[in-house]
Amino acid sequence: MAKKKKSGAKTGKKPHKNKPTSKKFSKYTIEGDRVKRERFCPRCGPGVFLMVAKDRLYCGKCHYSEFISKSEEKK
Ligand SMILES: [Zn+2]
Repeated sequence: MAKKKKSGAKTGKKPHKNKPTSKKFSKYTIEGDRVKRERFCPRCGPGVFLMVAKDRLYCGKCHYSEFISKSEEKK
């Protein structure tokens, strides 16, 4: 049996870091035969979704933020 080299040994390659996978798929939900999308950025356009915070929406790309008024939540 051949002995394996320990990872992290000098092999000339840069250490590979796993990036967190895109969660963009989670912004789409299928209802029946229709695709529902989350709120997207009006500046960046569709495809760039807004982060939903407690009382506001925020775009991580252009730093656009939109405040959600509480009166709008309850109808
Ligand atoms: Zn944006």
